[in-house]
Amino acid sequence: MATWTMPATEALRADGLRLEDLNTSGTPGFAGDKKAGQRLLTERAAVLSDLQERLYANGRSGDHRSVLLVLQGMDTAGKGGIVRHVIGSVDPQGVDHAAFGVPTPEERQHHYLWRIRNALPRAGQLGVFDRSHYEDVLVVRVHDLVPRSEWEPRYDEINAFEQEVVEQGTTLVKVAMFVSLDEQKRRLRERLVRPDKYWKFNPSDIDERAYWPAYQEAYQAMLDRTSTEYAPWYVLPTDKKWYSRLAVTELLIEALRQLKLEWPPAAFDVAEQQRRLDADGA
Ligand code: ADP
Repeated sequence: MATWTMPATEALRADGLRLEDLNTSGTPGFAGDKKAGQRLLTERAAVLSDLQERLYANGRSGDHRSVLLVLQGMDTAGKGGIVRHVIGSVDPQGVDHAAFGVPTPEERQHHYLWRIRNALPRAGQLGVFDRSHYEDVLVVRVHDLVPRSEWEPRYDEINAFEQEVVEQGTTLVKVAMFVSLDEQKRRLRERLVRPDKYWKFNPSDIDERAYWPAYQEAYQAMLDRTSTEYAPWYVLPTDKKWYSRLAVTELLIEALRQLKLEWPPAAFDVAEQQRRLDADGA
């Protein structure tokens, strides 16, 4: 069966990558085709689900650790698909999901990291951010929503914030998703011809296409300045949806494996409880 030729964490690591060199229809680290990828995904989703259950079980037993998947990407890159198809393969009660849109009036009254801190995963949870604090150096930078003097220091501030989060026991898995301009057009067109996709279409998505080069620049700066040893970025080509799903599943498996999660020991005397149950006359 086709499999990975190197760990996904190595194949996708952002280090030194220039976005103009990225092949968004590539499948880095994976040699198989769509069929092989889909077959493998079924198998790996079960592995992910088992590891997530261990994380949850340990969280219930006092382990403070958690894992947070941060998804960033242009419209149509497939963030929603990852949530539905990758996170959808694990037990929903163990998932802390948060999506970040245009800040609400209340959020605007606070520091930009306020809403992020409030949404960090609880102990034992698999957190998912659909967009994140990185919007504050992406859309904000591209559209001059605040002056440069205000967004410029945010890169260092975000690094310090993430270091703190990691030190508190949360493993960050940051995935930047890239679709090509052509593939984005195809996906937007699909949203306009299929009534079951209208709800995903936002007229401003077309306006945003004009800002593509500015977004590329902002994404490049984000990768260059916030990919750290403790919270590296992974760069995901997403023209092939089956590959994105397989790759994110693999990144999460690797992150969870690092935690060396055993099943928590019983907090009671197992033999005694077995005896009690046997003696129960009912
Ligand atoms: P999606 O487009 O992902 O389905 P929404 O329509 O709810 O989700 O909102 C996403 C929009 O919110 C995007 O256009 C994004 O750029 C914007 N957004 C997110 N965070 C911020 C922020 N901090 N400042 C301004 N706009 C933001």
